Amino acid sequence: MQDTFARFEREPGMAASPERRRLSILGATGSIGRNTLDLIGRDPDAFDIVALTASTNVETLASAAIETRAECAVIADETRIDALKSLLQGTGIEALSGVSGLIEAAGRPADIVVAAIIGFAGLRPTLAAVEQGATIALANKECLVAAGDLFMARAARAGARVLPVDSEHNAVFQALVGNDDDAIAEILLTASGGPFRTMTLQEMKSVTPAQALKHPNWSMGAKITIDSATLMNKGLELIEAAYLFPVGKDKFGAIVHPQSIVHGLVRYIDGSVIAQLGPPDMRAPLSHCLNWPRRAATPCERLDLAALGSLTFEPVDQTRFPAFGLALDAMKQGGAIQPVLNAANEIAVEWFLKDRIGFTEIAETVSSVMNSAMRENMSDAPADVEEVLEVDAWARANATELVNKL
Ligand code: NAD
Ligand code: MG
Repeated sequence: MQDTFARFEREPGMAASPERRRLSILGATGSIGRNTLDLIGRDPDAFDIVALTASTNVETLASAAIETRAECAVIADETRIDALKSLLQGTGIEALSGVSGLIEAAGRPADIVVAAIIGFAGLRPTLAAVEQGATIALANKECLVAAGDLFMARAARAGARVLPVDSEHNAVFQALVGNDDDAIAEILLTASGGPFRTMTLQEMKSVTPAQALKHPNWSMGAKITIDSATLMNKGLELIEAAYLFPVGKDKFGAIVHPQSIVHGLVRYIDGSVIAQLGPPDMRAPLSHCLNWPRRAATPCERLDLAALGSLTFEPVDQTRFPAFGLALDAMKQGGAIQPVLNAANEIAVEWFLKDRIGFTEIAETVSSVMNSAMRENMSDAPADVEEVLEVDAWARANATELVNKL
């Protein structure tokens, strides 16, 4: 086994009987966070909860913290700290707030940190978890898109293992077991194609946020659901995959598979293709990360292939889904263009969800901001986190100016 996947190897003693482990969830009130809490609730002897965090929802956060007997709860929105404190009064659970609270809590010693904050906001807290050397069950792909080189370098330095929660990457992780890097010919991620898979570009011009939020197979947070509809999500995932499995950017591809049963495939140089299949339920990859290198039973529905009957595949249509192509461009360019792509997309999706811009204007906005960044010669890779934050802020301001004009 070569170095690339050495971090996925079993450590001596890891197969011994499981002991209680310390676990934090960054983004505990979201879709991934709730799925994690669901799994933990079914196995209360397995984990001691260190920190749970949320953006604004103090009630849900406080009740999860009380239920799991967490050591601390963090609300990102500082104006809600008093509400959190009063909900936690008498419980002995510490209440923290703001970005500093998120970073402090993420840095508290833990065996596993589930990184499930949405978007760029997850970068600094997740890096704090990396710095303490915890195993990171990584759902927050935007961290890697915006700062993958820095992130993976810090993880290597701190000895933090990064396990992929994203279903496609988790599938690839499983399909890679026991093989050498140089035997890999291609890594393929599947995409459902989203709710507009068969629509023309013209028809997509008038779709509403409500239509875009109806994902055919997965139940997820709003931002990633819109990214799945534009196929930006698949582009972000290819960038994410190239950091998790550094075997050369030219080896990654995506294929549309509307049933979302096959999640990822690895083609080897001898012609064999190993795929991972599973129900479209994030508790399956989450459980794989939480229990790795063992496996544990989950409440996921059993896959019934005979009932499904057929699994179909089709190429990604970059003409109708230009956001996918923009992410591929950013991946090719690397450097600062990736955080630019990510930030512009976050702003455009936010404005689409507020019904302020049209669906097809999401990709148009991202493309314009990327072009501005190239004109300003912003291609150099950010040297540190401060520079990533600067690039992110620049792209957000640029995107906001653009959507204001639309
Ligand atoms: P979500 O919107 O349902 O939840 C996001 C969580 O982050 C919430 O707990 C929210 O309170 C918190 N949060 C939001 N803004 C914040 C801020 N500014 N500061 C601190 N916390 C903040 O999102 P989700 O669907 O659970 O996705 C989370 C991450 O996992 C994303 O990066 C997404 O791409 C990735 N992911 C999700 C799924 C899925 O099935 N939902 C699948 C694969 C990957
Ligand atoms: Mg995914």
